Amino acid sequence: MEKIKRYFHKSLARQFIGLMGGFIAIFFVGASLLLFYQQSTTNDFERKREQIEKKEKYVEQLDRAFTQAFLDVRGYLAFGRKEFKQSVFRQKEAVLLTLKQLKPLAHTTEDQQFLDAADSFATYYFDQLVKQAIMEFENGNIQAVLKISENGGTAAIEQFQRQLMDYHQTLKTQLDDEYVNFITKQTKSQMAFVGLILLILLVLMIIIRMMTKQIGKPLTEFAIAAEKFANDEEYREWPLLSERNDEIGKLSRAFQKMIYSIQEKEENLVAQNEELLAQQDELESQQAELEQALEMMQLREQELKRRNDFINGLSNSLKKQEVLDSIVCNMCKVMDADRGMIVLLNEQKSHSAFGLSEQGVQQFLAYMDNGLSQRLLKTKQSFAVKRELPASEKSYYEETLYSYDLLLPVLSAEQEVEAVMMFSRFSGEFLPYEIEEYERLAKQVSISLQKIRLYEESEKDRRMTQDILNNIQEGIQLVDRNGVNLMMNTQLANFLKVDVNTISQTPYEQWKELLLQKVVDEKNLSQYLDNVLFHAGNEIKSFTYHVKDEKKVIQMYAEPLYRGTERFGMIFVHRDITKEFEVDQMKSEFVSTVSHELRTPLSSVLGFTELMLNKELKPERQRKYLTTIYQEAKRLTALINDFLDVQRMESGRQTYDKKYEDIVPIIQNVIETQKVNTAIHQFVVEKETDRTIVLGDRDKLAQVFTNLISNAVKYSPDGGTVTVRIYEQGDRLNIDVVDEGLGIPAEAMPHLFTKFYRVDNSDRRRIGGTGLGLAIVKEIVKAHDGEVTITSEVKKGSTFTVRLPLVAVEMDHGSDAQTDRGVSVIIVEDDRNLASLLEAELSDSGFNVKSFKNGKEAIEAMKAMKPAAVVLDIMLEEGEMSGWDVLKEMKVDKELSSIPIVISSALEETEKGLTLGASDYLVKPYQPSQLSKTILQILLKQERHGEILVPVTDEYDRDEEKSE
Ligand code: ADP
Repeated sequence: MEKIKRYFHKSLARQFIGLMGGFIAIFFVGASLLLFYQQSTTNDFERKREQIEKKEKYVEQLDRAFTQAFLDVRGYLAFGRKEFKQSVFRQKEAVLLTLKQLKPLAHTTEDQQFLDAADSFATYYFDQLVKQAIMEFENGNIQAVLKISENGGTAAIEQFQRQLMDYHQTLKTQLDDEYVNFITKQTKSQMAFVGLILLILLVLMIIIRMMTKQIGKPLTEFAIAAEKFANDEEYREWPLLSERNDEIGKLSRAFQKMIYSIQEKEENLVAQNEELLAQQDELESQQAELEQALEMMQLREQELKRRNDFINGLSNSLKKQEVLDSIVCNMCKVMDADRGMIVLLNEQKSHSAFGLSEQGVQQFLAYMDNGLSQRLLKTKQSFAVKRELPASEKSYYEETLYSYDLLLPVLSAEQEVEAVMMFSRFSGEFLPYEIEEYERLAKQVSISLQKIRLYEESEKDRRMTQDILNNIQEGIQLVDRNGVNLMMNTQLANFLKVDVNTISQTPYEQWKELLLQKVVDEKNLSQYLDNVLFHAGNEIKSFTYHVKDEKKVIQMYAEPLYRGTERFGMIFVHRDITKEFEVDQMKSEFVSTVSHELRTPLSSVLGFTELMLNKELKPERQRKYLTTIYQEAKRLTALINDFLDVQRMESGRQTYDKKYEDIVPIIQNVIETQKVNTAIHQFVVEKETDRTIVLGDRDKLAQVFTNLISNAVKYSPDGGTVTVRIYEQGDRLNIDVVDEGLGIPAEAMPHLFTKFYRVDNSDRRRIGGTGLGLAIVKEIVKAHDGEVTITSEVKKGSTFTVRLPLVAVEMDHGSDAQTDRGVSVIIVEDDRNLASLLEAELSDSGFNVKSFKNGKEAIEAMKAMKPAAVVLDIMLEEGEMSGWDVLKEMKVDKELSSIPIVISSALEETEKGLTLGASDYLVKPYQPSQLSKTILQILLKQERHGEILVPVTDEYDRDEEKSE
């Protein structure tokens, strides 16, 4: 029992389930009992009613059978019909059956009494009465039959009929009683049902009450307590059912625990909160610091942005001026400055300005050495200046305005000031942090400038390299490993007829094609290039090719280019070796010529000497042989001399002793010599002019005409006239040497003056020669500023024309006019008195004198008068030409350059004067007669030159001179 109690105490749910279980059990048991009771009452009633109704039915059957039997008996007795008698027996059967059926239903005493009565009546009636009556009747004893009826038969029947009626009535009453009884029972059961409902309600009430007491109340208290707690009222004790074992008890205990732990945690939280508050304070102070830092960051960011803008704004150009312009513009923009300027401290003082007039710029440049910029250069520190604006800068403002000027140095990597920047701002002063920022920008400027400097230097280097390459005689080309052109100098580019700039980066095939087009043996060159470029290790380093349509021979060689140990390309050098090639060719020609030309005379010399040594000869013979030997030896000497001459002339070692010579005697002399060698030629000299003086080396000129006249003789083997015609043509003296000989084929013309060249054809194979004669002629004539030309017709003859410059002074030569009044002198002197003094002095000495104050006028007069000398003062009128200017101008003028100048000056600059070309220098004061003497001396010196022009000796012995 105790256990069950504890079981239920432990859980409200169990209690609730228990109560509800009991409640439901009571409900079901009560309801079932009631139902069962009602059912059984109804069944009982039904059964009884059925029995009674059955009994009634049998009674009625009995009644009808008896009644029928009575009727049938009377009918038979009355009419004697047999059918009635049979029907009586049938009724008897029916009565007996009905009685038999009724028997089991007889439960009550009344039933039993009735049954007994009926049974006895039936027996009496059918077995006694009827039998007797029928027997009597059949016996015809009607009276006896009547008597039997009067003796009680009819009475017994009537009694039994009453009895039957009574019993029927009794049965009816019984049925009614049973029904009343049934209704009463029904009413009772309904009453009991109502009672059951009431009982259930009562039980429910009890359960609800109990629940309210057990759950509702404690929950309410619980809620109040929780609310109190929630409302944060002080809470120490938990008054609830902590002793209970059910859910409420547990909940209460859990809640209590929870509250205590919440309280505990709350205390903790409060402590933590305090701590957090402290931390928050700290954070707030940190935040303030961060905000300050952020502000700094933002300032810095803005600065960086400005700097970035500045750098982006700087021109990327490598042109100095563009960069300077962009620096000034950008600085002004960043600084919000109204004006600005930058000046580089280089020689040209490169500069750029913003918002300044040209005059302002020049002013700044002119006074860079003092004032603000000087301070900047000294201190190398930027500084700001505040100044009041003058009216000129204030435009229409009337109040006082200020300009804030900032001077910034641009320092190079070596911390030298390389540029000065100055900026002016009207809108406000430059704050220290701004100045710091601008100083940083100045560093950026320095980087830009350094970039330009580096570029300029590298450009200079590049130009120099390019210039060096371009000025080298050889064609040079650099290619990379794939043969792509990297660089080509102008020589090669010109040769290939391409632009140096467009050829860069041209692929191998393309430039090779260009090169091959120019070359004779293209196939081999192509192979050579392929080999050199793509088959490294192949050691064919050079290749010689001939240029198409030109007599040029080029040697090409290749050298690999290495950077460290890595081979990155190839350099090709095209060297013009035409000269060497020709020399080589000439050498071989020379060898054959020389061997021929030397051997021929040598074999004669050897032959004849041998003869003379081995044989006794007659004196005439001996003389003849010796003459031949002598002539051959002379020929050998001439040959060697020619050879040596060519060598000397080509190497430029030949010296010419030039004097004014008359060409006619020289030619006549040559003809005389040549005449001796021929009998079949006539010589004619046609002199068409008197001006036959040239400035030249007599011996060399003689050699020219010897060669030409001897050729004329040599190459007209059939004889004829050799004409020498001397005539003037412009400022030239022309000498034609005309023969009527073999003539020269046109194709040989261009080569005639080449060393060792000889026209090779059958006509002249037997004519000996070295091919040096005309080469020597050309060299000598060239050295005399002249030229030789040829006209020739094969088989008709040739004309060689030598043109030499005519000498102008030659006309005056020999005349007495030199010191005459005709000789004029021009004086250039701005001092009137001195000029007239000098004029008088020179006139006295017999000169025709003119004086000028002004240099320009004097020069014009000189051109017109062609004076013999000029006297020149240095310090002339201010603002006009100085004496130096006059001197220089005279020296560059062809006509005036040869006029001797005597400087007459107070300045002691003798050396300068003489270097500039003056003939003498007189320092004032000097005696006027000294001037006359000086001029005379100069003119005399010139005259002495003239004396050398006096006719020359007839002798011409070259051998003598050569031996010197
Ligand atoms: P060389 O006479 O020793 O052969 P030159 O230089 O004097 O050498 O002459 C070169 C060539 O020019 C000669 O071989 C000759 O064929 C030709 N030549 C020179 N002068 C004449 C001339 N007057 N008439 C014809 N041919 C000439």
